[in-house]
Amino acid sequence: MTAPLLETRALCKTFGKVQAVRSVDLALPRGRTFGLVGESGSGKSTVARLVLRLIEATSGDIRFGDEDLRRLGGEALRRRRRRMQMIFQDPYGSLNGRMTVGETLVEPQLVHDIGTGGRARRDRARSLLREVGLPDSAMDRFPHEFSGGQRQRIAIARALATDPELIVADEPVSALDVSVQAQILNLLGDMQREHQTTMLFISHDLRVVRYVCDEIAVMYLGEIVERGPRDRVYDRPAHPYTQALLTSAPGSPRKDGKRAKLAGEIPSADAIPTGCAFRSRCPHAFDRCKIEAPRMQDVGGGQTAACHLLDR
Ligand code: SF4
Ligand code: MG
Repeated sequence: MTAPLLETRALCKTFGKVQAVRSVDLALPRGRTFGLVGESGSGKSTVARLVLRLIEATSGDIRFGDEDLRRLGGEALRRRRRRMQMIFQDPYGSLNGRMTVGETLVEPQLVHDIGTGGRARRDRARSLLREVGLPDSAMDRFPHEFSGGQRQRIAIARALATDPELIVADEPVSALDVSVQAQILNLLGDMQREHQTTMLFISHDLRVVRYVCDEIAVMYLGEIVERGPRDRVYDRPAHPYTQALLTSAPGSPRKDGKRAKLAGEIPSADAIPTGCAFRSRCPHAFDRCKIEAPRMQDVGGGQTAACHLLDR
């Protein structure tokens, strides 16, 4: 296997007493889509902002290619940023309402010194629009003249404008009508393959993640509790949390019908249970879970999970 494009090791982020991200190890294979799944409050978006250096980590390492991303500053960081783009959940809030679509697509090229001259940049903007299925006439219009799905297409075009190696998509379809979600997911998938981009895809929605991701990591209270190739994780979830998520996800009934539904609320990140963080909601919790935090272990087929049941 080729070296991953992006790798984190023991990545941590605390906000005061809140431990938002707790020792996260990730490895994103180049040219693939990696899914980060979990409930709201699990730390997924914080991981996204850390790897893009929109916020600074408390500790741990982030490697991008052969660079130590946490040590980059100034011009080197600016150049690196060009190769990393983000697509946000809210296509309304993420586009500047006072800029035309054309300006929105030209601006990142200007910022990052791409293209020679206004004409070339506008040509590139038009071709990006065509790629995402919008007409040239969109150039002179404003974001508010478009539907949510069309705005997300514009946001995708903008992300592609700098020819990024990494796209981080944080809940990119969660704000859209179900009827347009599939179109946008298909577009993202096509773009990812076409441009050989590496994508970190973040969602609470397991159906969506299954649809687009090659590999999956499941987060709970700031930690990764299970990870592996998509079909392994969906067909043979090893962690009780993953099992519960799959059971409670609409439209994905389990065949055996025996797995417990996900009960209760995710605890606050400033009051994380001792031992296994999931124990307050785990139907299988036993004495050891109170005292000892489970370690990640191999369960075969490239899948790993952190649960004491795996020792039984
Ligand atoms: Fe449940 Fe214990 Fe496994 Fe945690 S370690 S998921 S509490 S069985
Ligand atoms: Mg979030």
